[in-house]
Amino acid sequence: MNIFHDTPCQEASIHSRETFIACGRPGASAVFHKKDRHVYVMCEACTYHNVKNRGGIELVPKEE
Ligand SMILES: [Zn+2]
Repeated sequence: MNIFHDTPCQEASIHSRETFIACGRPGASAVFHKKDRHVYVMCEACTYHNVKNRGGIELVPKEE
């Protein structure tokens, strides 16, 4: 059970160019970004990319 699964990923899709296109895959976790102090729901792939390359901090939900 993943509490983020019903929320689509809020990260930009690789298909985004001039216009923002949301990734839209099922969310896997929440990622906090210090630079805008905002939390984004992201899928597994976007979480990995943001934590590894963009300084995001993964917020891991507690399992019930
Ligand atoms: Zn994504």
